[in-house]
Amino acid sequence: MPYVHNTLERLRKSSPAQTEFYQAAEEVLECLRPLFERSPYYHDHSIIERIVEPERQIMFRVCWTDDAGRVRVNKGYRVQFNSALGPYKGGLRFHPSVTSGIIKFLGFEQIFKNALTGLPIGGGKGGSDFDPKGKSDAEIMRFCQSFMTELYRYIGPTTDVPAGDIGVGAREIGYLYGQYKRLTGRYEGVLTGKGLNWGGSIGRKEATGYGAVYFAQNMLEARGDSIKGKTCLVSGAGNVAIYTIEKLYEVGAKPVTCSDSRGTLHDPRGVDLALLKELKEVKRTSLEAYLEQHTEASYTPVDDYPTDGHAVWRIEGDVAFPCATQNELTEADAETLLGNGVTCISEGANMPSTAAAVDRFLAARIAYGPGKAANAGGVATSQLEMAQNSSMQQWPLQKVDARLKEIMANIYKQCADTAEEFGEPNNLVLGANIAGFRKVADAMIDQGAV
Ligand code: NDP
Repeated sequence: MPYVHNTLERLRKSSPAQTEFYQAAEEVLECLRPLFERSPYYHDHSIIERIVEPERQIMFRVCWTDDAGRVRVNKGYRVQFNSALGPYKGGLRFHPSVTSGIIKFLGFEQIFKNALTGLPIGGGKGGSDFDPKGKSDAEIMRFCQSFMTELYRYIGPTTDVPAGDIGVGAREIGYLYGQYKRLTGRYEGVLTGKGLNWGGSIGRKEATGYGAVYFAQNMLEARGDSIKGKTCLVSGAGNVAIYTIEKLYEVGAKPVTCSDSRGTLHDPRGVDLALLKELKEVKRTSLEAYLEQHTEASYTPVDDYPTDGHAVWRIEGDVAFPCATQNELTEADAETLLGNGVTCISEGANMPSTAAAVDRFLAARIAYGPGKAANAGGVATSQLEMAQNSSMQQWPLQKVDARLKEIMANIYKQCADTAEEFGEPNNLVLGANIAGFRKVADAMIDQGAV
Protein backbone atom coordinates (compact mmCIF):
# COMPACT_ATOMS: atom_id res chain seq x y z
CA MET A 1 0.00 0.00 0.00
CA PRO A 2 2.35 2.76 -1.20
CA TYR A 3 0.22 5.73 -0.18
CA VAL A 4 0.08 4.65 3.49
CA HIS A 5 3.85 4.32 3.42
CA ASN A 6 4.30 7.61 1.54
CA THR A 7 2.00 9.52 3.89
CA LEU A 8 3.87 8.22 6.93
CA GLU A 9 7.21 9.12 5.35
CA ARG A 10 5.95 12.62 4.57
CA LEU A 11 4.74 13.01 8.16
CA ARG A 12 8.06 11.86 9.53
CA LYS A 13 9.81 14.55 7.47
CA SER A 14 7.27 17.37 7.91
CA SER A 15 6.67 16.80 11.63
CA PRO A 16 10.12 15.95 12.97
CA ALA A 17 10.30 15.43 16.75
CA GLN A 18 6.52 14.96 16.99
CA THR A 19 7.05 11.33 18.01
CA GLU A 20 3.74 10.79 19.83
CA PHE A 21 1.81 12.21 16.87
CA TYR A 22 3.72 9.97 14.50
CA GLN A 23 3.09 6.95 16.77
CA ALA A 24 -0.68 7.63 16.79
CA ALA A 25 -0.82 8.25 13.01
CA GLU A 26 1.16 5.11 12.26
CA GLU A 27 -1.16 2.95 14.37
CA VAL A 28 -4.27 4.31 12.66
CA LEU A 29 -2.93 4.21 9.09
CA GLU A 30 -1.50 0.69 9.45
CA CYS A 31 -4.89 -0.54 10.64
CA LEU A 32 -6.59 1.05 7.63
CA ARG A 33 -4.71 -0.98 4.99
CA PRO A 34 -7.43 -3.65 4.59
CA LEU A 35 -10.08 -0.92 4.26
CA PHE A 36 -8.13 0.86 1.52
CA GLU A 37 -7.74 -2.41 -0.37
CA ARG A 38 -11.49 -2.88 -0.26
CA SER A 39 -12.49 0.76 -0.87
CA PRO A 40 -9.92 2.43 -3.13
CA TYR A 41 -12.10 5.54 -3.51
CA TYR A 42 -10.73 6.86 -0.20
CA HIS A 43 -7.43 7.19 -2.01
CA ASP A 44 -9.05 9.03 -4.94
CA HIS A 45 -10.27 11.69 -2.50
CA SER A 46 -6.82 11.96 -0.83
CA ILE A 47 -8.51 11.29 2.48
CA ILE A 48 -5.48 10.11 4.40
CA GLU A 49 -3.34 13.02 3.26
CA ARG A 50 -6.13 15.36 4.43
CA ILE A 51 -7.01 13.60 7.68
CA VAL A 52 -3.47 13.74 9.10
CA GLU A 53 -3.33 17.50 8.55
CA PRO A 54 -5.13 19.63 11.17
CA GLU A 55 -7.65 22.09 9.73
CA ARG A 56 -6.10 24.75 11.95
CA GLN A 57 -3.42 25.02 14.68
CA ILE A 58 -3.36 27.98 17.01
CA MET A 59 -0.29 28.74 19.13
CA PHE A 60 -0.08 31.68 21.46
CA ARG A 61 1.86 33.29 24.27
CA VAL A 62 0.32 33.21 27.75
CA CYS A 63 1.68 35.86 30.12
CA TRP A 64 0.62 35.88 33.73
CA THR A 65 1.90 37.31 37.00
CA ASP A 66 2.92 35.07 39.90
CA ASP A 67 2.29 35.86 43.56
CA ALA A 68 5.72 37.49 43.85
CA GLY A 69 4.76 39.95 41.10
CA ARG A 70 7.04 38.38 38.47
CA VAL A 71 5.78 38.05 34.89
CA ARG A 72 5.80 34.43 33.74
CA VAL A 73 5.37 33.10 30.19
CA ASN A 74 3.95 29.82 28.88
CA LYS A 75 2.97 28.43 25.51
CA GLY A 76 -0.73 27.94 24.66
CA TYR A 77 -2.12 25.61 21.98
CA ARG A 78 -5.39 24.68 20.34
CA VAL A 79 -5.44 22.21 17.44
CA GLN A 80 -8.72 22.20 15.51
CA PHE A 81 -8.15 18.93 13.74
CA ASN A 82 -11.30 17.84 11.96
CA SER A 83 -14.83 19.26 11.83
CA ALA A 84 -16.42 16.81 9.37
CA LEU A 85 -18.81 15.43 12.00
CA GLY A 86 -19.45 18.52 14.14
CA PRO A 87 -17.84 21.32 16.15
CA TYR A 88 -14.30 20.59 17.35
CA LYS A 89 -14.42 18.86 20.72
CA GLY A 90 -11.59 17.77 22.99
CA GLY A 91 -9.91 18.68 26.26
CA LEU A 92 -7.28 21.15 27.43
CA ARG A 93 -4.16 19.75 29.11
CA PHE A 94 -2.00 21.82 31.47
CA HIS A 95 1.23 19.91 32.13
CA PRO A 96 4.93 20.78 31.72
CA SER A 97 5.34 17.92 29.22
CA VAL A 98 2.90 19.54 26.75
CA THR A 99 4.35 20.30 23.30
CA SER A 100 2.72 20.91 19.93
CA GLY A 101 3.39 17.22 19.09
CA ILE A 102 1.56 15.98 22.20
CA ILE A 103 -1.44 18.19 21.46
CA LYS A 104 -1.45 17.04 17.83
CA PHE A 105 -1.39 13.35 18.84
CA LEU A 106 -4.26 13.90 21.27
CA GLY A 107 -6.26 15.87 18.68
CA PHE A 108 -5.72 13.17 16.06
CA GLU A 109 -6.93 10.40 18.40
CA GLN A 110 -9.89 12.56 19.36
CA ILE A 111 -11.22 12.60 15.76
CA PHE A 112 -11.79 8.84 15.71
CA LYS A 113 -12.87 8.58 19.34
CA ASN A 114 -15.54 11.22 18.81
CA ALA A 115 -16.72 9.50 15.64
CA LEU A 116 -17.13 6.22 17.56
CA THR A 117 -19.53 7.87 20.03
CA GLY A 118 -22.02 8.31 17.16
CA LEU A 119 -22.57 11.91 18.32
CA PRO A 120 -22.11 15.04 16.14
CA ILE A 121 -18.66 16.14 17.34
CA GLY A 122 -15.41 16.82 15.47
CA GLY A 123 -11.90 16.43 16.91
CA GLY A 124 -9.69 19.01 18.63
CA LYS A 125 -7.35 19.38 21.59
CA GLY A 126 -5.45 22.11 23.36
CA GLY A 127 -3.43 23.04 26.38
CA SER A 128 -0.28 24.59 27.74
CA ASP A 129 3.09 23.68 29.22
CA PHE A 130 1.94 25.48 32.39
CA ASP A 131 2.39 23.34 35.53
CA PRO A 132 -0.50 23.83 38.00
CA LYS A 133 1.42 21.94 40.71
CA GLY A 134 2.61 24.14 43.55
CA LYS A 135 0.72 27.20 42.26
CA SER A 136 -1.69 29.12 44.46
CA ASP A 137 -5.38 29.41 43.52
CA ALA A 138 -4.78 33.04 42.59
CA GLU A 139 -1.93 32.08 40.23
CA ILE A 140 -4.07 29.38 38.60
CA MET A 141 -6.85 31.92 38.13
CA ARG A 142 -4.56 34.52 36.55
CA PHE A 143 -3.07 31.91 34.24
CA CYS A 144 -6.52 30.65 33.17
CA GLN A 145 -7.74 34.20 32.55
CA SER A 146 -4.73 35.00 30.39
CA PHE A 147 -5.08 31.71 28.48
CA MET A 148 -8.74 32.42 27.75
CA THR A 149 -8.04 36.02 26.76
CA GLU A 150 -6.36 34.60 23.67
CA LEU A 151 -8.40 31.41 23.16
CA TYR A 152 -11.88 32.98 23.30
CA ARG A 153 -11.62 34.28 19.71
CA TYR A 154 -11.41 30.78 18.31
CA ILE A 155 -14.06 28.89 20.31
CA GLY A 156 -17.86 28.92 20.63
CA PRO A 157 -20.77 26.56 21.31
CA THR A 158 -21.14 25.65 17.61
CA THR A 159 -17.48 25.99 16.57
CA ASP A 160 -15.16 24.52 19.21
CA VAL A 161 -16.05 23.37 22.74
CA PRO A 162 -13.01 22.51 24.93
CA ALA A 163 -13.18 20.40 28.13
CA GLY A 164 -10.70 19.27 30.81
CA ASP A 165 -7.81 16.81 30.63
CA ILE A 166 -4.64 16.35 32.71
CA GLY A 167 -4.25 19.36 35.02
CA VAL A 168 -7.60 20.87 34.02
CA GLY A 169 -10.46 20.03 36.36
CA ALA A 170 -13.49 21.83 37.76
CA ARG A 171 -11.42 24.67 39.25
CA GLU A 172 -9.65 25.52 35.97
CA ILE A 173 -12.84 25.15 33.88
CA GLY A 174 -14.52 27.61 36.27
CA TYR A 175 -11.81 30.26 35.86
CA LEU A 176 -11.71 29.75 32.09
CA TYR A 177 -15.49 30.03 31.81
CA GLY A 178 -15.65 33.14 33.97
CA GLN A 179 -13.15 34.91 31.70
CA TYR A 180 -14.94 33.79 28.51
CA LYS A 181 -18.19 35.23 29.88
CA ARG A 182 -16.50 38.46 30.88
CA LEU A 183 -14.91 38.89 27.44
CA THR A 184 -17.94 38.00 25.33
CA GLY A 185 -20.87 38.84 27.60
CA ARG A 186 -22.39 35.47 26.66
CA TYR A 187 -23.57 32.70 28.99
CA GLU A 188 -23.39 29.69 26.71
CA GLY A 189 -22.13 26.11 26.49
CA VAL A 190 -18.61 26.93 25.28
CA LEU A 191 -16.84 24.60 27.73
CA THR A 192 -17.85 21.27 29.22
CA GLY A 193 -17.01 19.91 32.67
CA LYS A 194 -18.68 22.98 34.21
CA GLY A 195 -19.94 23.13 37.82
CA LEU A 196 -23.31 21.48 38.38
CA ASN A 197 -24.99 24.70 39.48
CA TRP A 198 -23.83 26.69 36.44
CA GLY A 199 -24.46 24.53 33.39
CA GLY A 200 -22.51 21.33 34.03
CA SER A 201 -23.91 17.87 33.44
CA ILE A 202 -24.48 15.50 36.31
CA GLY A 203 -22.23 12.49 35.68
CA ARG A 204 -19.62 14.27 33.48
CA LYS A 205 -16.88 14.15 36.11
CA GLU A 206 -17.41 10.41 36.56
CA ALA A 207 -18.00 9.56 32.89
CA THR A 208 -14.54 8.63 31.58
CA GLY A 209 -13.78 6.26 34.45
CA TYR A 210 -17.27 4.77 34.55
CA GLY A 211 -17.15 4.33 30.77
CA ALA A 212 -13.80 2.50 30.90
CA VAL A 213 -15.35 0.02 33.36
CA TYR A 214 -18.47 -0.41 31.19
CA PHE A 215 -16.19 -1.08 28.23
CA ALA A 216 -14.30 -3.76 30.20
CA GLN A 217 -17.64 -5.32 31.17
CA ASN A 218 -18.65 -5.46 27.50
CA MET A 219 -15.36 -7.08 26.51
CA LEU A 220 -15.50 -9.65 29.31
CA GLU A 221 -19.16 -10.51 28.81
CA ALA A 222 -18.53 -11.15 25.11
CA ARG A 223 -16.05 -13.80 26.27
CA GLY A 224 -18.51 -15.35 28.72
CA ASP A 225 -16.69 -13.78 31.67
CA SER A 226 -17.57 -11.05 34.17
CA ILE A 227 -15.75 -8.28 36.03
CA LYS A 228 -17.37 -9.26 39.33
CA GLY A 229 -14.81 -10.48 41.87
CA LYS A 230 -11.83 -9.50 39.71
CA THR A 231 -8.72 -7.90 41.23
CA CYS A 232 -8.02 -4.74 39.24
CA LEU A 233 -4.86 -2.68 38.70
CA VAL A 234 -5.43 1.04 38.11
CA SER A 235 -2.73 3.60 37.32
CA GLY A 236 -3.15 7.34 37.86
CA ALA A 237 -4.87 9.07 40.74
CA GLY A 238 -6.69 11.84 38.90
CA ASN A 239 -10.17 12.26 37.51
CA VAL A 240 -10.19 9.14 35.32
CA ALA A 241 -8.49 6.83 37.85
CA ILE A 242 -10.67 7.88 40.80
CA TYR A 243 -13.96 7.26 39.00
CA THR A 244 -12.69 4.02 37.48
CA ILE A 245 -12.05 2.86 41.04
CA GLU A 246 -15.48 4.08 42.18
CA LYS A 247 -17.29 2.16 39.43
CA LEU A 248 -15.16 -0.96 39.99
CA TYR A 249 -16.46 -1.15 43.57
CA GLU A 250 -20.04 -0.65 42.31
CA VAL A 251 -19.76 -3.62 39.95
CA GLY A 252 -18.24 -5.89 42.60
CA ALA A 253 -14.57 -5.78 41.55
CA LYS A 254 -11.58 -5.00 43.80
CA PRO A 255 -9.24 -2.17 42.71
CA VAL A 256 -5.94 -2.59 44.57
CA THR A 257 -3.64 0.06 43.09
CA CYS A 258 -3.34 3.66 41.97
CA SER A 259 -0.34 5.87 41.13
CA ASP A 260 0.72 9.44 40.55
CA SER A 261 3.80 11.12 39.14
CA ARG A 262 5.68 10.43 42.39
CA GLY A 263 4.89 6.77 43.08
CA THR A 264 2.60 3.75 43.17
CA LEU A 265 0.28 2.67 45.96
CA HIS A 266 -0.75 -0.97 46.52
CA ASP A 267 -3.47 -1.80 49.01
CA PRO A 268 -4.23 -5.54 48.76
CA ARG A 269 -7.48 -5.07 50.72
CA GLY A 270 -8.76 -2.62 48.11
CA VAL A 271 -8.01 1.11 47.70
CA ASP A 272 -9.78 3.29 50.30
CA LEU A 273 -11.74 5.47 47.86
CA ALA A 274 -12.83 8.12 50.37
CA LEU A 275 -9.24 8.63 51.49
CA LEU A 276 -7.98 8.70 47.89
CA LYS A 277 -10.51 11.43 47.04
CA GLU A 278 -9.49 13.43 50.09
CA LEU A 279 -5.78 13.19 49.25
CA LYS A 280 -6.12 13.98 45.55
CA GLU A 281 -9.28 16.08 45.13
CA VAL A 282 -9.15 18.10 48.34
CA LYS A 283 -5.58 18.17 49.72
CA ARG A 284 -3.84 17.66 46.33
CA THR A 285 -1.02 15.79 48.05
CA SER A 286 1.18 12.72 47.54
CA LEU A 287 -0.21 9.17 47.72
CA GLU A 288 2.42 8.38 50.32
CA ALA A 289 0.19 10.06 52.93
CA TYR A 290 -2.22 7.10 52.45
CA LEU A 291 0.14 4.95 54.55
CA GLU A 292 -0.54 7.10 57.64
CA GLN A 293 -4.01 5.52 57.82
CA HIS A 294 -3.38 2.12 56.18
CA THR A 295 -0.27 0.33 57.38
CA GLU A 296 -1.16 -2.77 55.34
CA ALA A 297 -0.64 -0.80 52.10
CA SER A 298 2.73 -0.31 50.41
CA TYR A 299 4.16 2.59 48.44
CA THR A 300 6.86 2.46 45.73
CA PRO A 301 8.46 5.81 44.86
CA VAL A 302 9.32 6.48 41.20
CA ASP A 303 13.05 6.14 41.92
CA ASP A 304 12.49 2.46 42.79
CA TYR A 305 10.54 1.61 39.60
CA PRO A 306 11.98 -1.07 37.29
CA THR A 307 14.20 0.54 34.65
CA ASP A 308 12.09 -0.91 31.83
CA GLY A 309 8.63 0.02 33.07
CA HIS A 310 6.17 0.99 35.79
CA ALA A 311 5.82 -0.54 39.29
CA VAL A 312 2.04 -0.68 39.03
CA TRP A 313 2.08 -3.29 36.24
CA ARG A 314 4.38 -5.58 38.25
CA ILE A 315 1.61 -6.21 40.82
CA GLU A 316 -0.63 -9.25 40.36
CA GLY A 317 -4.19 -8.72 39.15
CA ASP A 318 -6.81 -9.90 36.63
CA VAL A 319 -7.79 -6.71 34.80
CA ALA A 320 -5.72 -3.54 34.17
CA PHE A 321 -6.91 0.05 33.70
CA PRO A 322 -4.08 2.41 32.63
CA CYS A 323 -5.52 5.82 33.56
CA ALA A 324 -2.53 8.20 33.88
CA THR A 325 -0.80 9.23 30.67
CA GLN A 326 0.64 8.23 27.27
CA ASN A 327 3.22 5.44 26.98
CA GLU A 328 3.02 4.53 30.69
CA LEU A 329 2.82 0.79 29.92
CA THR A 330 5.89 -0.65 28.17
CA GLU A 331 6.52 -3.91 26.35
CA ALA A 332 8.22 -5.29 29.49
CA ASP A 333 5.17 -4.28 31.54
CA ALA A 334 2.91 -6.03 29.02
CA GLU A 335 5.00 -9.17 29.31
CA THR A 336 4.74 -9.11 33.11
CA LEU A 337 0.98 -8.51 33.02
CA LEU A 338 0.48 -11.42 30.63
CA GLY A 339 2.79 -13.62 32.70
CA ASN A 340 0.68 -12.80 35.77
CA GLY A 341 -2.48 -13.92 33.97
CA VAL A 342 -4.16 -10.58 33.19
CA THR A 343 -7.05 -11.25 30.81
CA CYS A 344 -8.36 -7.75 30.07
CA ILE A 345 -6.96 -4.22 29.58
CA SER A 346 -9.28 -1.23 29.32
CA GLU A 347 -7.48 2.06 28.65
CA GLY A 348 -8.82 5.08 30.53
CA ALA A 349 -5.87 7.22 29.41
CA ASN A 350 -4.99 8.19 25.83
CA MET A 351 -2.41 5.88 24.18
CA PRO A 352 -1.07 4.62 27.55
CA SER A 353 0.44 1.46 26.03
CA THR A 354 3.47 1.69 23.77
CA ALA A 355 3.11 0.24 20.25
CA ALA A 356 5.18 -2.82 21.26
CA ALA A 357 2.97 -3.40 24.32
CA VAL A 358 -0.17 -3.27 22.15
CA ASP A 359 1.37 -5.85 19.80
CA ARG A 360 1.93 -8.14 22.81
CA PHE A 361 -1.68 -7.85 23.94
CA LEU A 362 -3.03 -8.50 20.44
CA ALA A 363 -0.74 -11.50 19.94
CA ALA A 364 -1.87 -12.95 23.29
CA ARG A 365 -5.53 -12.48 22.21
CA ILE A 366 -6.58 -11.11 25.57
CA ALA A 367 -9.45 -8.58 25.72
CA TYR A 368 -7.73 -5.29 24.88
CA GLY A 369 -9.75 -2.06 24.67
CA PRO A 370 -7.74 0.82 23.15
CA GLY A 371 -8.17 4.28 24.69
CA LYS A 372 -9.96 5.79 21.73
CA ALA A 373 -12.81 3.33 22.35
CA ALA A 374 -12.58 2.56 26.07
CA ASN A 375 -12.27 6.15 27.32
CA ALA A 376 -14.79 7.72 24.93
CA GLY A 377 -17.39 7.95 27.71
CA GLY A 378 -15.93 11.29 28.83
CA VAL A 379 -16.32 13.08 25.53
CA ALA A 380 -19.70 11.42 24.93
CA THR A 381 -20.99 12.84 28.20
CA SER A 382 -19.47 16.21 27.31
CA GLN A 383 -21.67 16.13 24.22
CA LEU A 384 -24.64 15.32 26.47
CA GLU A 385 -23.68 18.45 28.46
CA MET A 386 -23.75 20.45 25.20
CA ALA A 387 -27.20 19.03 24.40
CA GLN A 388 -28.47 20.00 27.87
CA ASN A 389 -26.99 23.51 27.56
CA SER A 390 -28.52 24.18 24.16
CA SER A 391 -31.97 23.04 25.34
CA MET A 392 -31.55 24.78 28.73
CA GLN A 393 -32.22 21.56 30.62
CA GLN A 394 -30.49 19.49 33.27
CA TRP A 395 -30.94 15.76 33.06
CA PRO A 396 -31.00 13.49 36.15
CA LEU A 397 -28.09 11.12 36.84
CA GLN A 398 -30.12 8.05 35.85
CA LYS A 399 -30.68 9.46 32.35
CA VAL A 400 -27.04 10.46 31.84
CA ASP A 401 -25.70 7.16 33.18
CA ALA A 402 -28.17 5.12 31.09
CA ARG A 403 -27.08 7.03 27.95
CA LEU A 404 -23.40 6.51 28.86
CA LYS A 405 -23.90 2.77 29.31
CA GLU A 406 -25.74 2.54 26.00
CA ILE A 407 -23.05 4.58 24.18
CA MET A 408 -20.23 2.39 25.58
CA ALA A 409 -22.10 -0.77 24.54
CA ASN A 410 -22.56 0.68 21.03
CA ILE A 411 -18.88 1.61 20.78
CA TYR A 412 -17.89 -1.91 21.81
CA LYS A 413 -20.30 -3.43 19.27
CA GLN A 414 -19.05 -1.22 16.42
CA CYS A 415 -15.42 -2.12 17.19
CA ALA A 416 -16.16 -5.84 17.55
CA ASP A 417 -18.40 -6.01 14.45
CA THR A 418 -15.86 -4.12 12.32
CA ALA A 419 -13.00 -6.35 13.53
CA GLU A 420 -15.12 -9.37 12.57
CA GLU A 421 -15.99 -7.84 9.17
CA PHE A 422 -12.27 -7.51 8.39
CA GLY A 423 -11.47 -11.06 9.46
CA GLU A 424 -9.72 -10.21 12.74
CA PRO A 425 -12.27 -10.92 15.48
CA ASN A 426 -11.11 -9.60 18.88
CA ASN A 427 -8.77 -7.02 17.33
CA LEU A 428 -10.54 -3.97 18.75
CA VAL A 429 -7.66 -1.70 17.70
CA LEU A 430 -8.37 -2.49 14.06
CA GLY A 431 -12.13 -2.33 14.70
CA ALA A 432 -11.96 1.07 16.43
CA ASN A 433 -9.68 2.64 13.83
CA ILE A 434 -11.63 1.44 10.80
CA ALA A 435 -15.08 2.15 12.29
CA GLY A 436 -14.07 5.66 13.42
CA PHE A 437 -12.21 6.49 10.22
CA ARG A 438 -15.03 5.36 7.91
CA LYS A 439 -17.53 7.76 9.50
CA VAL A 440 -15.19 10.74 9.27
CA ALA A 441 -13.90 9.91 5.79
CA ASP A 442 -17.40 9.42 4.36
CA ALA A 443 -18.49 12.80 5.78
CA MET A 444 -15.36 14.45 4.33
CA ILE A 445 -16.13 13.04 0.89
CA ASP A 446 -19.76 14.24 1.09
CA GLN A 447 -18.57 17.74 2.05
CA GLY A 448 -16.11 18.08 -0.85
CA ALA A 449 -12.48 19.12 -0.96
CA VAL A 450 -12.40 21.63 1.89
P1 NDP B 1 -5.68 14.27 35.99
O1 NDP B 1 -4.81 15.46 35.87
O2 NDP B 1 -6.93 14.38 36.78
O3 NDP B 1 -4.87 13.04 36.56
C1 NDP B 1 -3.73 12.54 35.90
C2 NDP B 1 -3.08 11.51 36.80
O4 NDP B 1 -2.01 10.89 36.11
C3 NDP B 1 -2.48 12.12 38.05
O5 NDP B 1 -2.55 11.18 39.09
C4 NDP B 1 -1.05 12.39 37.64
O6 NDP B 1 -0.15 12.40 38.74
C5 NDP B 1 -0.77 11.21 36.74
N1 NDP B 1 0.19 11.61 35.70
C6 NDP B 1 0.05 12.57 34.77
N2 NDP B 1 1.13 12.68 34.01
C7 NDP B 1 1.99 11.76 34.48
C8 NDP B 1 3.28 11.36 34.11
N3 NDP B 1 3.93 11.96 33.08
N4 NDP B 1 3.85 10.36 34.81
C9 NDP B 1 3.20 9.75 35.84
N5 NDP B 1 1.97 10.09 36.24
C10 NDP B 1 1.38 11.07 35.57
O7 NDP B 1 -6.01 13.82 34.48
P2 NDP B 1 -7.18 12.88 33.96
O8 NDP B 1 -7.46 11.82 34.96
O9 NDP B 1 -8.26 13.75 33.47
O10 NDP B 1 -6.50 12.22 32.66
C11 NDP B 1 -5.75 11.00 32.70
C12 NDP B 1 -5.65 10.41 31.31
O11 NDP B 1 -6.99 10.17 30.80
C13 NDP B 1 -4.96 11.28 30.26
O12 NDP B 1 -4.31 10.45 29.34
C14 NDP B 1 -6.14 11.96 29.56
O13 NDP B 1 -5.81 12.39 28.26
C15 NDP B 1 -7.13 10.81 29.53
N6 NDP B 1 -8.53 11.18 29.34
C16 NDP B 1 -9.15 12.04 30.22
C17 NDP B 1 -10.48 12.34 30.04
C18 NDP B 1 -11.23 13.17 31.03
O14 NDP B 1 -12.47 13.21 30.92
N7 NDP B 1 -10.61 13.79 32.00
C19 NDP B 1 -11.24 11.84 28.88
C20 NDP B 1 -10.52 10.85 28.09
C21 NDP B 1 -9.21 10.58 28.31
P3 NDP B 1 0.04 13.74 39.63
O15 NDP B 1 -1.21 13.86 40.45
O16 NDP B 1 1.25 13.48 40.45
O17 NDP B 1 0.21 14.83 38.63
